[in-house]
Amino acid sequence: MPTVDRTRLTSLVERERATYTATHPVAATLNRSATHLLRGVPMTWMAKWSGGFPLYLDSASGNRVIDVDGHEYVDFALGDTGAMAGHSPRPTVEAVSERLRRGITAMLPTADAEWVGAELTRRFGVPHWSFTLTATDANRWAIRLARLATGRPKVVVFNYCYHGSVDEAFAVIGARGEAVSRAGNVGAPVPLDLTTRVAEFNDLASVEAALAHGDVAAILTEPALTNIGIVLPEPGFMAGLRKLATKYGALLMIDETHTFSAGPGGATKLWDLQPDIFVIGKSIGGGIPCGAYGLSDDVRRRVEEHPEADLVDVGGVGGTLAGNALSVTAMRATLEHVLTDDAFVAMVDLATQFAHGVQQTIDRTGVAWSVRQLGARAECPATTKADVDLHTELFAAAVKDLLGPTYWVCRYSCHTGSP
Ligand code: PMP
Repeated sequence: MPTVDRTRLTSLVERERATYTATHPVAATLNRSATHLLRGVPMTWMAKWSGGFPLYLDSASGNRVIDVDGHEYVDFALGDTGAMAGHSPRPTVEAVSERLRRGITAMLPTADAEWVGAELTRRFGVPHWSFTLTATDANRWAIRLARLATGRPKVVVFNYCYHGSVDEAFAVIGARGEAVSRAGNVGAPVPLDLTTRVAEFNDLASVEAALAHGDVAAILTEPALTNIGIVLPEPGFMAGLRKLATKYGALLMIDETHTFSAGPGGATKLWDLQPDIFVIGKSIGGGIPCGAYGLSDDVRRRVEEHPEADLVDVGGVGGTLAGNALSVTAMRATLEHVLTDDAFVAMVDLATQFAHGVQQTIDRTGVAWSVRQLGARAECPATTKADVDLHTELFAAAVKDLLGPTYWVCRYSCHTGSP
């Protein structure tokens, strides 16, 4: 099997870095002079881009990004699905612009909210909805409700999962099978084995072992792991989770923040997952901050059985801007006019073409990698920094095949626009 020539790779990466610095003088200056921001960026992860400093955004529209140095990019990252509907989709922009003039947030519901709840029910099957501003927050709230409904303290998560900055979920399997903090975790409030049990994805026996302790409120999972490449569920795994959750009295909590790419009803509809609790965020607001969690009839009933839990005041305070008029308007416009059932057909078709092209390019090199696709999203798992750099080269080659020679590539996934 061919191996990667690391020396050549290092010199290629150095060459790319030098070109990047030379061709992005405005971004370099902005980054150097940002002395009032932690790590020089508005959010610390923005410091992570390869090249040494980030691109700075000038404008973005559809599948294109223009940076402050005047370069135009095809955007395969799409805000990590925050912009899955394309940048600034027209129906969302129009609805939001109108709403901006008529009040953004007033701690009052708008008529759009019930429409959004009904649409989320149509798509994902879960009937009772509440809104947040991020998927992280939706997960946090839903975990609290799972604890309330079941009277149990712990959640099962999967090794190396990601569900946002949710303390319970920053866990990996320790030497004795216990939950331990993931390397680099920041400020864990308590040792992770107090809140969490960790199982291996695609390993029902490990899930059953975790549930058998009888202290698990919910299994929290994506239907396919999407934050370590895409790890698809093996046949029977998701159905097995559903059965095990029921058998051991735990709730099945499905986070479709990324896997919504699978189709208009996400993997939940496609694979009939029957969650007790459903979480989504990012894409459904077309880029305006939003999130949502939905409860089954049964979970709702069990939550309501606790009058001592003050969901309105003490237990409900937080998220002052959650469900605000602007966010709800954005969700309605995006779901009604942009991320429609028809749009998914085109998105998935584009992603299929893309994944095919990338796979062909990989195959030509003979390296033992593969592309994983889930509907409109496709990724190529990378395990090391060097892999990431090589991927960038391969993706660039694949996209050049697809689009012609003039574009740079960010990352992967397709949206409603055509290339
Ligand atoms: N769930 C999943 C599966 C995610 O991948 C992410 C973020 N990438 C989140 C939740 C959290 O989303 P946010 O950072 O917007 O809160």
